[in-house]
Amino acid sequence: MRKHTPSLVLTLALALIVSGCRSSRRRDDGKPAGPVLMHIEEVAERLDLEVSARSTPGMFILSGSGGIIVFRPPVIIVNDTACFRGHRTRIEGDKVFIPGDFFATAAKHLHCSAAAPCDDKPDSDARPTPDRPAPSPPHVVIDPGHGGRDPGAVSPHGYEKSVALAVSRHIASRLRARGIEVTMTRTGDEFIQLNERAAIANRLEADAFVSIHADAAGDPGVHGFTVYVGARDGGRYSDSARADAIASEVGVGSSALRPVLTANRRKSLRLASAIRQRMSRATNSPDRGTRHAKFRVLERSAPPAVLVELGFLTNDREARRLFQPAYQQTLAAAIADGIEQFLNSGQRSAE
Ligand SMILES: [Zn+2]
Repeated sequence: MRKHTPSLVLTLALALIVSGCRSSRRRDDGKPAGPVLMHIEEVAERLDLEVSARSTPGMFILSGSGGIIVFRPPVIIVNDTACFRGHRTRIEGDKVFIPGDFFATAAKHLHCSAAAPCDDKPDSDARPTPDRPAPSPPHVVIDPGHGGRDPGAVSPHGYEKSVALAVSRHIASRLRARGIEVTMTRTGDEFIQLNERAAIANRLEADAFVSIHADAAGDPGVHGFTVYVGARDGGRYSDSARADAIASEVGVGSSALRPVLTANRRKSLRLASAIRQRMSRATNSPDRGTRHAKFRVLERSAPPAVLVELGFLTNDREARRLFQPAYQQTLAAAIADGIEQFLNSGQRSAE
């Protein structure tokens, strides 16, 4: 994996955040306080926050009236400010390693936001140092469609929600094996609101959002895969309307977010074509092309976002194949390759 530049959203968000997170508190002997391992519930309690049900493996979200803290190693985000970037923050089961000065800094920033920033200087610990040289790896959000009480399309071979989850899990593990950070919007059979799926990607400043589904049609003969991008720019799908709706999740002003959304529309098309190319090579399933659609998860996502329809559950031959583990792996490998190709091409164009 080549080194990867932060997404436009991240760059912009960080540039707009006037307040860094000072973490210069030192022990009496002059050395920085070391990290400590604490139970996440205890961390939440000390800050008067709750551990959110939206926490997923590898990530904790604490929220309350003071604001929101996202533990997503190696970054801790406090009210949309990336505090402690570069610290060795790790998650181990229900416990997190937190920097020694975490509570003082977090308590202070829980009362600040990008709109009303704290008046201090950027965190010297946030800068790369020789023993912390690596920029953040790219971060991808994989969204297994439907779940819980919403089965999605139904076939005699099984539900859409099951295919979506199985393929998403394989995509996630393939990307992680290549050093790409992955957050899944659901890891089990649970119901997640559409807006919340996109909001997870927005809050994490993800580099890409990929939603996984299986299709249905009235005509049982229809088969093949389709990759959707958002509706064309206009009306409630215009970038200014979208920016108004989601700016608070990204932590920047609406006017600053709008050009990012416009740029990410073009990137979504690139992501769609990279995924289609790989799927087309890996399967003999017909490529139904890149299509525009008014899907909520795409409309509400700030990062480049696509929705992949793996095939039709209403076509008996394709439905049977979609439930075969080997074919699920083939699809996942192709989609992971497409995502990786997209991330790498973004790097090249930025150089
Ligand atoms: Zn679906």
